[in-house]
Amino acid sequence: MLADKYDSVRQQILSACQSGQRAPESVQLLAVSKTRGADEIRQLHACGQTAFGENYLQEALDKIAALQDLPLEWHFIGPIQSNKTRAIAEQFDWVHSVDRLKIARRLSEQRPDELPPLNLCLQVNISDEASKSGCTPEELPELARAVAALPRLRLRGLMAIPEAETDPARQRATFARVRTLMEALQAELPQLDTLSMGMSGDLEAAIAEGSTLVRVGTALFGPRNYNSAGTNSEANPGADTSATTNV
Ligand SMILES: *Cc1c(COP(=O)(O)O)cnc(C)c1O
Repeated sequence: MLADKYDSVRQQILSACQSGQRAPESVQLLAVSKTRGADEIRQLHACGQTAFGENYLQEALDKIAALQDLPLEWHFIGPIQSNKTRAIAEQFDWVHSVDRLKIARRLSEQRPDELPPLNLCLQVNISDEASKSGCTPEELPELARAVAALPRLRLRGLMAIPEAETDPARQRATFARVRTLMEALQAELPQLDTLSMGMSGDLEAAIAEGSTLVRVGTALFGPRNYNSAGTNSEANPGADTSATTNV
């Protein structure tokens, strides 16, 4: 079942790459495993998946500890409070949801010396909603410059969670704005190589507009179950709504 869904998501990514005349390996799949158990992550790893994304810190730390025996790559994609930065700096390979300098500074200071630099994407609030997540497009250049100069981080690119939208043309128009912001930054910071955009409902549009990493939860694992045993109390429907639809 999980294997079937995995194959069909991979196929979806492949055909989107073909339509956009892009190399299949130019788009990475991040499996968003929030609210899912360590056993399901194990199953997906057996299918060939190595990169997993988590939103809720305590829940993620429990799974990271339970899955130490597997060579997994962990991505933090949820909102970040300052008192959570140390554990993120110590336990994760990537962070996608940094939207202010204070958080980036702490991650840089707290990244252990024996680990490689922490890969980081800046989250940009592209739909300009009431949401507090993501910096504004106007703040972006200065923030990117400052973050790129921090020692224990490797600034890789941008992450965006557009407002939920079912019309493919509108999805594309929003992702195109993120791509334009990225291209403007690349003129100054040519090392940027990651556009983290696209989820279960809009990954085709995101790939058509240059996404290099799609974050997929529901299409792989099915609807999220917030009451399942083993998931953390931080995971609740209210938090999820804000994370996925950026309301
Ligand atoms: C939950 C989540 C996803 C996955 O969303 P799906 O619609 O389930 O694919 C992707 N990105 C972020 C930031 C999320 O919080």
